[in-house]
Amino acid sequence: MTPIVTRFPPSPTGYLHIGGARTALFNYLYARQNGGKFILRIEDTDQARSTQEMTDAIIDAMHWLGLDFDEGPYFQSERGDLYNSYVDKLVETGKAYYCSCTSEEVEAMRETARAAGLKPKYNGKCRELGLGPGPGRVVRFKTPLTGKVVFDDAIKGPISWDVQEMDDFVIRRADGSAIYQMAVVVDDAEMGVTHVLRGDDHQNNTPKQILIYEALGFPLPTFGHVPMILGSDKKKMSKRHGATSVMMYKDLGYLPEAMLSYLVRLGWSHGDDELFTMAELLEKFSLGGLGKSASVFDMDKLNWTNSHFIKIGDVPRLANLLDEMIRQNTDFEPARDYLEAIVPLFQPRAKTLKEMAEQATFFLHDAESLPYAEAAVTKFLTPETREHLNVLAERMEALPAFDHQSLEEMVTAYLEETGLKFKALAQPIRVAITGTTMSPGLFETMEVLGRDRTLARFRKALTL
Ligand code: GLU
Repeated sequence: MTPIVTRFPPSPTGYLHIGGARTALFNYLYARQNGGKFILRIEDTDQARSTQEMTDAIIDAMHWLGLDFDEGPYFQSERGDLYNSYVDKLVETGKAYYCSCTSEEVEAMRETARAAGLKPKYNGKCRELGLGPGPGRVVRFKTPLTGKVVFDDAIKGPISWDVQEMDDFVIRRADGSAIYQMAVVVDDAEMGVTHVLRGDDHQNNTPKQILIYEALGFPLPTFGHVPMILGSDKKKMSKRHGATSVMMYKDLGYLPEAMLSYLVRLGWSHGDDELFTMAELLEKFSLGGLGKSASVFDMDKLNWTNSHFIKIGDVPRLANLLDEMIRQNTDFEPARDYLEAIVPLFQPRAKTLKEMAEQATFFLHDAESLPYAEAAVTKFLTPETREHLNVLAERMEALPAFDHQSLEEMVTAYLEETGLKFKALAQPIRVAITGTTMSPGLFETMEVLGRDRTLARFRKALTL
């Protein structure tokens, strides 16, 4: 059996976007689970719009997601001679020809066809003239005049195209450069690609590419066209719908494993399963699970997926990522063990690391710089509650161990003595130690803050 070879061929004219990452993931999984090869090819023939910066950004994003490639990156811009050698071969074998028609002439042919109610096409004027190369001449592919191009799409099933839908399309421009369809076929064939899984925005290219494969005597790969990803309004996903670049999700605090689990479900299913680790995907992925209909990008579901992976995440690793997030967005330089103590408090609820970083800010301030919400202070730090806080502070100072259990016991004893309800003291304590009315569990929070910080905050709050 020939080994499976798949590829991901982005154009470096923009960042790796959600749709591209999903296609890359499908190709990666299929190659990996079959012991095959996954190739990265940079389709940078549009020199004006392609940049090294985007190439680097795409590779960074693939590394972030863990989509490691076995070969490449190849650059189409360095392979022009190869493509041209195959164009020459097609001319030599009579499967392509030089055409001297000007663009005005071709436009006129199209106009005539349109006027007659036909599909606008090049009319084949130079097809049998046997012209040689010359200035301004393009090379056109000799599309068969009758018949159908038929292929069995791995996702959509049999697809058939009447060749009369096509004309003798250009495969080499007048400037001597081979066109994109030529480059893709030559690359895929030369690289031994066995499976072409790509967005169905390329489905219309496939019949032309198949004709080129056949004319060059290359074996056909299996094609699979993945339906588009739509925004919440059911229109093709675009910047209007929010972040489209994968790395923007990193900056927003999404975990790569959550992105993978979420992305794979945009167009692939395995029973009712919703959450997948990479190991599970490598076991469960199959082309048969790829769906025929478009999927809708759903931020709530992504958040849900991300919170799941945060919940089960490894604490030291999350602390690392949180550290990065904090240093990127603030001037704090938190100690590692402090962050490792903080993370578990937020794991049960945080949707993103960014949210976690924001909600954990109160831990990072010292008592002097901690901002206190005025409304919360007015509402909860009343003359009466201040008296209680004073007593609690004294007792905290005297506690032998400053852990959440001792703190809880101490507060419970005080409630019993005074006949107060926990509710009467919970928010005043919370405001005193966090400056706000929202935080993780009080006693856990105090334990993590530690005695010195907690007492400093009590003292500060009592001066407000
Ligand atoms: N370079 C194309 C793109 O970025 C991919 C074409 C293909 O997969 O054949 O959309």
